[in-house]
Amino acid sequence: MSQFSVPALLADLDLDTKVSLLSGADFWRTREVAAFGIPALKLSDGPNGIRGDLNRCVASACFPVGVALGASWNPALIAEIGQALAQEARCKNVSVVLGPTINLQRLPVGGRHFECMSEDPLLTGHLAAAFINGVQLQGVGACPKHFVGNETELDRYNISVEIDPATLRQAYLLPFEISVMDARPWMIMSAYNRVGGVYASSHAYLLKQVLKREWGFDGVVVSDWGAAVETEANALGGLDLEMPGPGKVWRKKLVAAVEAGVVPMAEIDDKVGRLLHLINRSGAKVGQAHAPEQALDDPNHRALARRAAAESFVLLKNNGNVLPLNPGFSGCLAVIGPNAAFGQIMGGGSSHVLSHPPIHPLAGLRAAFPAADIRYAQGCRNNKYAPILTAQDVLSLQDGRGGFTRSTFADASFTGSPTRVDRVETSLLTLLETFSGAEKQGSQDRVPGGVRLEGIYRAHVTGPHSFGMMSAGRARLYLDDVLVVDNWENWQRGESFYAFGSNEVRMDWQLIAGQDYHLRVDYERPVQALVAGVQFGIEPPLVADSIAEAATLALESDAVILVLGSNPDWETEGHDRTRFELPGEQDTLARAVLTANPNTCVVLNVGAATALPWYDQAKAALVCWFGGQELGNALGDVLSGTVDPSGRLPFSWPRTLASHPGMAHYPGEAGRLIYREGQYFGYRGYDLGPEPPLAAFGHGLSYGAPAVLTAELAGTVAQRRIRVRVGNLAHRPARAVVQVYAGTDPELATRDAHEPVRVLAGFAKRDIPASSETEVEVQLDARMFRRWDEVAGCFQPDLRPKRLWVGLSSAGPFVEIPSNASARNHP
Ligand code: BGC
Repeated sequence: MSQFSVPALLADLDLDTKVSLLSGADFWRTREVAAFGIPALKLSDGPNGIRGDLNRCVASACFPVGVALGASWNPALIAEIGQALAQEARCKNVSVVLGPTINLQRLPVGGRHFECMSEDPLLTGHLAAAFINGVQLQGVGACPKHFVGNETELDRYNISVEIDPATLRQAYLLPFEISVMDARPWMIMSAYNRVGGVYASSHAYLLKQVLKREWGFDGVVVSDWGAAVETEANALGGLDLEMPGPGKVWRKKLVAAVEAGVVPMAEIDDKVGRLLHLINRSGAKVGQAHAPEQALDDPNHRALARRAAAESFVLLKNNGNVLPLNPGFSGCLAVIGPNAAFGQIMGGGSSHVLSHPPIHPLAGLRAAFPAADIRYAQGCRNNKYAPILTAQDVLSLQDGRGGFTRSTFADASFTGSPTRVDRVETSLLTLLETFSGAEKQGSQDRVPGGVRLEGIYRAHVTGPHSFGMMSAGRARLYLDDVLVVDNWENWQRGESFYAFGSNEVRMDWQLIAGQDYHLRVDYERPVQALVAGVQFGIEPPLVADSIAEAATLALESDAVILVLGSNPDWETEGHDRTRFELPGEQDTLARAVLTANPNTCVVLNVGAATALPWYDQAKAALVCWFGGQELGNALGDVLSGTVDPSGRLPFSWPRTLASHPGMAHYPGEAGRLIYREGQYFGYRGYDLGPEPPLAAFGHGLSYGAPAVLTAELAGTVAQRRIRVRVGNLAHRPARAVVQVYAGTDPELATRDAHEPVRVLAGFAKRDIPASSETEVEVQLDARMFRRWDEVAGCFQPDLRPKRLWVGLSSAGPFVEIPSNASARNHP
């Protein structure tokens, strides 16, 4: 419902006011112009929960991350999550959710691999459209990101990605095209990187020609946070909104550029018109963006998070039917591994939310197998940084509740009374409002603020504890008033906090079991930093011979669940992974446990592929991703067979990094990342051999036994509907993800012809009851039957003979649709 007439407002507003609207007011909000009744819009990350203001520590639902949604292959489920996110957004006065993240998983080492949905553009596009439609159905905007070429975190603020035009159109732009054409997002975020040497936020060809003209995008192009770095080029290149506020490159500089005639007034009107249209769509009201946030711990959202997580789990192998375990299992069940007691529910960086209390794997398994004698051993560590402290580890001084007392001081001398005292839940404090706060308060307040965190930590073991801290801004950590970690005197910029913070500084300190210690961190909150924050933690000593202890437990147990994985120390925004192996001594642990007890199921709590050198030794392996707040319950559901594992790999899982089609071209040349594998990325590269992946794109087992029996065209060739009969030979229900691939004769698919062997053209997920057959119709996407014509600069129908293959993974086995039907399969 319109609040105001856009043309009338454009006629009334003067240049200064118009331009003031085009840069944010603060970290999350656009500018309010109350005199004209123009409200501020509040934007928030995204995509696996609603982050909110952060500084206020209001909890949110944490859904499974992007790669898990990708693994669900279920648009309807993702639309439900979109709707739940919109309801969460409302409780935090958020008008636009900054997600989904729809860059492709081009490389397994990409820092945000966990946040993206798939290596495949069609799968990503269809799931993204479902996400956007779900969010926007509830009257909240979605913002697919990052447009375009932000496939890794490598030097992300500067790197130039170089993608040939056909690959750009047919692969990396395709998820955005599908999103815009099928779901009409209200906003799109331009990436930090350059594309062919031009900043994505200044790229007139991409933003104006492709996005706005060709696809008819009528929303707002917002810069990634801090990605707007060029006054005129950004303005002329199609960017509409500079975030965060108060803005670096527009404001007065943009007014001057308009007055000098460099930026036409029509450009400004177009941008302001788009923003006003967005405000109208959102129904935002003046003052609303600053209202207090609410936490909504809705049982329906918990149930949805649990269902979604379970539906995303991928059963890679299950030899000898190790799984499922009987829910009435009453033997000794060993639960082992660094991610067992504390599973990883999300990745690191801007998608991190303060989750409602999560269910970890060990707790979920205890609930799922009440009769079992469950015993636990950590086995080894996998953290890079000292583990963050939570409300379970520390008691605040203020009221003895879990968490830290936070005292905010006017300056970093920490003298006088604090200006505010409150409680925070964790020792990871990200202060994103610093930038604008300092600006707003005026020049006399432009001194670094002081933030003090205090709590009581009780040691559980005697021995050397490793204290670690990193910060964007200087910080000191004291134990009983003794300085333990000094990240103040020699503070240096490193990799933390999106590369605005330091590296971790570590120090060992002897603690005694049962003794309480007063923990204090004094942190200097810098002025005018885009990102400010501090993270610290304590790593207690592990028992000696922890791997041997875990192996003994495995030996003495009837069955073992071994939960291995990673965490945001490794998988995060800001930098790529530097190693492919599971961190720490997990491979040694895996070998020891698998040798001690072959009746072991390995659970992989990861956001991306890792090396699995013991894979052939394992009978059963299940990937549970960063599965959101209900991770543990969902694990109980799948391991006990209450829910069939129906996730399928949304990427090809490499056996070695060297075999991966993209890795030969990484990290590229200085300042340039050339996508030399072109159309042969992911499974399209593996299809040319020589070494197959460890597990193929689309692979995943069911506890049932689904199989494609027959496939044929349904309706006319032009309708591109495929009718598939799928059988289930098992005596228990199955879920199948039917995948239809379109391609050419394998002998034509050579690197010279730039023609992949096959590309995913459609898919459908269905339940198949025990011992039965079901008919599944799959609608193919016409966009997979066209080619980018570089000379003409447009798509042309692909008139070459097409072959259609139907299977349950990109590696087959396939049922081929008779060639007389598919040979004519063109528009
Ligand atoms: C990320 C975006 C995010 C933004 C706001 C950036 O660092 O790249 O995905 O939406 O921060 O938090």
